[in-house]
Formats: sequence, C-alpha cells, structure tokens
Amino acid sequence: MSRIRQLSPELINQIAAGEVIERPASVVKELVENSVDAGATRIEIEIEDGGARLIRVRDNGSGIAVDELPLAVTSHATSKIGSLDDLEHVLTLGFRGEALPSIASVARFALSSRPATQDAGWRLEIEGGRNQTQQPAQHPVGTTIEVRDLFYNVPARRKFLRAERTEFSHIDELVKSMALARTDVEFRLSHNGKPVRLLRPTTDESSALQRIGEVCGDIFIGQSLHLDHAAAGLRLSGWVGLPTASRSQADQQFFYVNGRLVRDRVLAHAVRQAYADVLYHGRHAAFVLYLELDPTMVDVNVHPAKSEVRFRESRLVHDFLYRTLHAALADTRAGSVSSAPT
Ligand code: ADP
Ligand code: MG
Repeated sequence: MSRIRQLSPELINQIAAGEVIERPASVVKELVENSVDAGATRIEIEIEDGGARLIRVRDNGSGIAVDELPLAVTSHATSKIGSLDDLEHVLTLGFRGEALPSIASVARFALSSRPATQDAGWRLEIEGGRNQTQQPAQHPVGTTIEVRDLFYNVPARRKFLRAERTEFSHIDELVKSMALARTDVEFRLSHNGKPVRLLRPTTDESSALQRIGEVCGDIFIGQSLHLDHAAAGLRLSGWVGLPTASRSQADQQFFYVNGRLVRDRVLAHAVRQAYADVLYHGRHAAFVLYLELDPTMVDVNVHPAKSEVRFRESRLVHDFLYRTLHAALADTRAGSVSSAPT
C-alpha cells in the first residue's frame, strides 16, 4: 500500500486540464472568453494544423500587469471574483482561475501582454507546466497567448486528436458561436496562414443580422423575425427563424444566457413547444436568442466547462420563453402547416 502524498502542482493542473481541455477547440474557447472578459473589441485567432501545432489568440483588451503575470498562470487565481457573493453576481465568462494553468501544463505556452499603464510588454513562457521564464517583449496594449504542441506531454490525449480538418471545424464552430454572442466584437480566424473568417464589429440590428447571415449562411436574412421582449426581470431578444428556415438538423440553434452559450433542457423544451405548431415533425428550428436576467437568478457554476446552467426559477423562465416565442411565431402560423386554432 502506497503512502498518501500531495500531488505536484503540474500534475494537479494536468488533471484539471482533463476536465476542460478536451481538444484544441476547448483551448480556443477559454482564450477567447478571456479576451472577451478583458474588454477586447478585436480578437484574432490563428490556427496551425487544426490547433495541434499552434493556437494563437491576440486581443486588444486590458492586458495583464507584469507583476501579475505569474498569477495569471497559477491555479485558482482570478481577477474576476473574490468572494461567494461575487460568484453569485458574476457576469464574466470566466471565474474559476483554472484555464491558463491547465493549458500551460499540457502544451508549450507563451503569454505576452501589456496593459495601457506600462510602456513595455512582457512575455512569460512555460513548457508543460515547468521552466517558467519571463522577459521584456514588444507588445501593443492587449494580450497574445500562444499554445504550441497541445498534449505533447500527455500522449493519451494527443492520440485522441482527430484529423486536422475535424479539429479545425470544431474551432470554427466555436468561433462562430462566440461571434454570435458578441456581434460588437471583431473576430478574425485563420488556418495555416489562410484567412477563414473576418467578422467586422456590428453596431445595429441590421448589421448584427448581417453577421448572423455570414456565420449561419444566408437562411436567416429575410427568413427570421427579430424580437425583443422584457418582463418580470427577464429579457429575451434575438432572431427566430421562420418555418421556411427550419432545418433537418438542430445545427443552428444558438441560445445565450447572459452572453454565455448554453445547452439547457428547460430552454430547449420551451423553444420546442413554442415551435410545435409551426414546424413539421422532424424539422428543427433555427434561432439565435439572447436571454438576459439578473445573475443571481442563474447558477453558472454547475460544470467546469460552464455550458450548463441552473435557473433558480426555472418554471418562470420556461413560461416567459414559451409565451414570448409563441406570440412572435403566432403570425407565421397562418401561412405554414395547418394547426388547431388556439
Ligand atoms: P479566469 O478566466 O477564470 O479568471 P484564467 O485562467 O482563464 O481564469 O485566467 C486567469 C486570469 O488571467 C484572469 O482572471 C485574468 O485576470 C487574466 N487574463 C487571462 N487572459 C487574459 C486576457 N486575454 N486579457 C487580460 N487578462 C487576462
Ligand atoms: Mg478564463
């Protein structure tokens, strides 16, 4: 029988990485979320070899002060919350302080950054959680993170990376979902040096719809209804696809809760019910919806990847969604499939 031992920090981080860093797209998610949290208005994502060789995310956000760089890659260190009360009110995408140390423990990692208060930038490097170094480096205000050779030191994970095309398509899906979450932010995505997406920031409803068209294909433009309705501390806005924009797969369903893409049974059920009268069996609605509510009404600390949420009053949320969507879709009913009068 072995004795009980404290695990090394590297191993702790590698185990934490196992929870959230499943593939290159998970790294992109964490880095882009950090850029959004840092108030960036421009985020550039460069990928090589499906992310297995290189993931580089540059932003023009707040940057990180030189004396805080080591903390940024320390686990359970975050600038986003400091108490349980903060956690309950959290509106940032991150708050666990685990992403950077996790990623740095399973790749060759470099973080370059400069806040507006510093004349010069600094670059911190870590290799597989070890040999941390820091030196001055040219950098505009903002942050660049480079992640090379993901899982180079975790052969079991490296082995599970799929073909370059598959990994890149996961990254592209992720970038699309972030670009719809924040239509006010510019996103650029390139793969092996070739530009794949350039999404300019949008300022109004019609240019936001344009972005949705660029991301989802043109189905939305002209075949969707805009809605924006608030009641009882809840606000639902966005675009619901008309029955003519429905799809054979549920591949264009974007639901954001306070800016975070979520998969949730309560939300999915309310949407399905609202569409039940207007869609043929087997067809799936297309929609981009944003639900905003007081952060204390929703728990985002359910799962490390934070793609699940729990509503404090799920019945209320469900009924609000159902009613709002049902009313918006009611007008479309006449021209679509027959249904019982309500
Ligand atoms: P979390 O996002 O949960 O706080 P992370 O490990 O993702 O944890 O990041 C740790 C900290 O590093 C963040 O709280 C933030 O202060 C800082 N940080 C990370 N990425 C950026 C960025 N792109 N711009 C500015 N600060 C950043
Ligand atoms: Mg984070």
